[in-house]
Amino acid sequence: DKYVYSFSEGSKEMKSLLGGKGANLAEMTNIGLPVPPGFTITTKACNRFYEEGQELWQELLDEIHIHLNGVEERIGKVFGDEKNPLLFSVRSGAVFSMPGMMDTILNLGLNDRAVKGLAVSTGNERFAYDSYRRFIQMFSDVAMGIPKVRFESLLEDMKEERNVTLDTELTAEDLKKLVEQYKKVYLEEQRKPFPQDPIKQLELAIKAVFASWNNPRAIVYRKLNDIPHDLGTAVNVQSMVFGNMGETSGTGVAFTRNPADGENKLFGEFLMNAQGEDVVAGIRTPNTIDKLKEIMPEAYNQFAEATQKLEHHYKDMQDIEFTIENKKLYLLQTRAGKRTAQAAVNVAVDLVDEGLIEKEEALLRIDPNQLNQLLHPTFDEKALNSAELIVKGLPASPGAASGKVYFHADDVMEAKARGERSILVRQETSPEDIEGMVAAEGILTSRGGMTSHAAVVARGMGKCCVAGCSDIRVDEVNKVIKTRYKEIHEGDYISLDGSTGMVYVGEIKKVRPELSGKFDKFMNWVDNIRRLKVRTNADTPRDAAQAVAFGAEGIGLCRTEHMFFDDARIPAVRRMIVSNTVEQRKKALDELLPMQRKDFYEIFKVMEDRPVTVRLLDPPLHEFLPSNDEDIMELAKSMGIVYSELKERIESLSEFNPMLGHRGCRLAVTYPEIYRMQARAIIEAAIDIKIDGYENITPEIMIPLVGDSNELKYVKSEIVEEINLVFEERKTKVNYLIGTMIEIPRACVTADEIAKEAEFFSFGTNDLTQMGFGFSRDDSGKFLNEYVEKGIFEKSPFEVLDRDGIGKLMKIAVDLGLKANNKIHLGICGEHGGEPSSVEFCHQLGLDYVSCSPFRVPIARLAAAQAVL
Ligand code: ADP
Ligand code: MG
Ligand code: MG
Repeated sequence: DKYVYSFSEGSKEMKSLLGGKGANLAEMTNIGLPVPPGFTITTKACNRFYEEGQELWQELLDEIHIHLNGVEERIGKVFGDEKNPLLFSVRSGAVFSMPGMMDTILNLGLNDRAVKGLAVSTGNERFAYDSYRRFIQMFSDVAMGIPKVRFESLLEDMKEERNVTLDTELTAEDLKKLVEQYKKVYLEEQRKPFPQDPIKQLELAIKAVFASWNNPRAIVYRKLNDIPHDLGTAVNVQSMVFGNMGETSGTGVAFTRNPADGENKLFGEFLMNAQGEDVVAGIRTPNTIDKLKEIMPEAYNQFAEATQKLEHHYKDMQDIEFTIENKKLYLLQTRAGKRTAQAAVNVAVDLVDEGLIEKEEALLRIDPNQLNQLLHPTFDEKALNSAELIVKGLPASPGAASGKVYFHADDVMEAKARGERSILVRQETSPEDIEGMVAAEGILTSRGGMTSHAAVVARGMGKCCVAGCSDIRVDEVNKVIKTRYKEIHEGDYISLDGSTGMVYVGEIKKVRPELSGKFDKFMNWVDNIRRLKVRTNADTPRDAAQAVAFGAEGIGLCRTEHMFFDDARIPAVRRMIVSNTVEQRKKALDELLPMQRKDFYEIFKVMEDRPVTVRLLDPPLHEFLPSNDEDIMELAKSMGIVYSELKERIESLSEFNPMLGHRGCRLAVTYPEIYRMQARAIIEAAIDIKIDGYENITPEIMIPLVGDSNELKYVKSEIVEEINLVFEERKTKVNYLIGTMIEIPRACVTADEIAKEAEFFSFGTNDLTQMGFGFSRDDSGKFLNEYVEKGIFEKSPFEVLDRDGIGKLMKIAVDLGLKANNKIHLGICGEHGGEPSSVEFCHQLGLDYVSCSPFRVPIARLAAAQAVL
């Protein structure tokens, strides 16, 4: 078996074997870009490393040596040589990029003698010892787990002692001393001297990279991103080039386009006389890439040309790491650049316009869930103008966020568990903070640039982030933010604007964004390709209007219970429920009728000619009843009955298992007047709307919780009778449909019978999942997590539709339903209707539409288009 590939042997197609970084280093090498030579040890080797009890085996070591020799020959230097040593970087490289999860070791191969050789051969003693002290620190930290702070504090002490602020101001002598101090730390921590044998160094480093695949941070990251745990990581061993050789050297990172808004202009940062992660670590403030043009025009032009070449080759925006050694350019990494949703859409549209990709490809490039970012509120202009500004930082990731300040990831997670919204405030984030970043509304840091950890990770998550606020001091220990004028303590509210970098005191009102331009163009392509229609779940005119603005083509679920909970109506609703006679109940319903009619009228008006499905009352009745004595007393008085009688009546309504109790169409079987009132309200409102000029109004009346065709038949006959009364009274008619939710397993398997009575089916997959699995929606959260953790379920079936079981029930219902009634309309109105994988399944089932909450409408539209491709 071959476990090691030199860069010239690989290609970008070999990601699963070489990891993302290795595959792209190979690709860049092969298209003629300047990449320092090296080789990649495969992910397969990583898996075998674990099989071998975390040891490197002899054949692997032999293969590594052959490739080592190959690099030595190409470069004309020897690894471990005392006069002119060849040095390597050892870099991890997983299949999917895992930013910051596994660390890189630079300058490997240095020891007490080689460092002298390096000083002589380069004529640059300062550089040689700078490289050595970096190597000792990285090797100790990454390979041996010695805390970084032990070295960093020595470096700080040295700078203080020398009375300088930047590490570039330390002299060769200072660095020599540091090296001695660093080695002492190593000896203390490891009880062994710092390893001097370069081969030994290399082996330890490779083992450390393999082992880091299973460090807790990496495991958390994989879990959060659905990355399988058995992929393993590759190791890249690459000859070093040096950005820390002086003022004609430097290192940087750049995106071929702006990752915040997609603008087609090189975007990046670099530092002169620096190495490795100096740029992203926020040690010195980096320069923007434009500045490179002034300082080293030749290197800049070469770089700009290389970025163009890469973008055309990969046909996507790239994120590129580079180093300049004595004015000579080297490329060290390229990958598809992480970007905000806004940038993603703009870049995709631009790439189509530039002729680089097809529309279909553009549609597949956007993760539907990413659109979330585009649809979320921004701060209200007026509220913003009167808000108190604290500080301005870098606009690292767009969005608007308000919350209480917390300084530690754990505190953010605890706050979230208490139901609070919070802002994570740190000097700079690190991979340990990821879970806190997920739980926070937004992230604020005092250090680091646009490519710092906080910025990169936040953009990837679509989370608002303001980074590099150097005008504040973040005291994580005493939990306080200090500005020149102000202190903000843990628990105080602040607001972040990730698009401007502004940070404000307190909470600020938000408004919903308007979408236009390239987004519209993109969504047009989406709409031309998809077959599924997309409706919305909306109970109020406001939600309905929002959904229409997002492209909803109708309402798939208008729940009526919320309308009953309104403060002004609840007394009448309660009287309706506790009535002892039909007359009493009708009297209460007569009070409710005009209110309901108005509800429906307003919703129809917003929706104009679009279809609207109204679901008749569903929840258990006792949910509406008063529970405390005072309220019961008051209700009794208003009804002219005694307290004890009412109390008894209420108790008689309570149920052991309300979700499986007296709800849905079962209510209508006992109290048909309720649905009759609702049907009347719907039809009267429709007639009014028709008179207003919407000729095609066709309300869809949906009966919930049907399990047997006879239930539907009975309820329908009651409703139709009432509707005919309305037609007679008003001397006008409107078209209407009567259909049912399919949410009980029995309904699925008897769907042929039910379809004879129904003009449409709408899958209520929340209840169908609950009843299909037999676990309660409200209680299963507690154990479902464990199901996912133990690999019993891949995802909670309440999140992603379970195709094998619940999906099969749906398939049976679709087939039987169509067989009995080939004109039947089919839709879904459960939460799943806005979840991309579930939307794809609905497409495959041949449903007519999905229906989801307003903010998920664009997501469902895109998912529906992707289902076609
Ligand atoms: P990460 O995956 O965290 O970005 P990398 O393996 O890309 O880690 O390494 C981090 C940084 O180290 C790179 O951005 C680059 O600046 C530097 N680096 C890696 N290999 C070399 C090399 N052979 N020569 C010079 N610098 C290197
Ligand atoms: Mg890193
Ligand atoms: Mg990198």
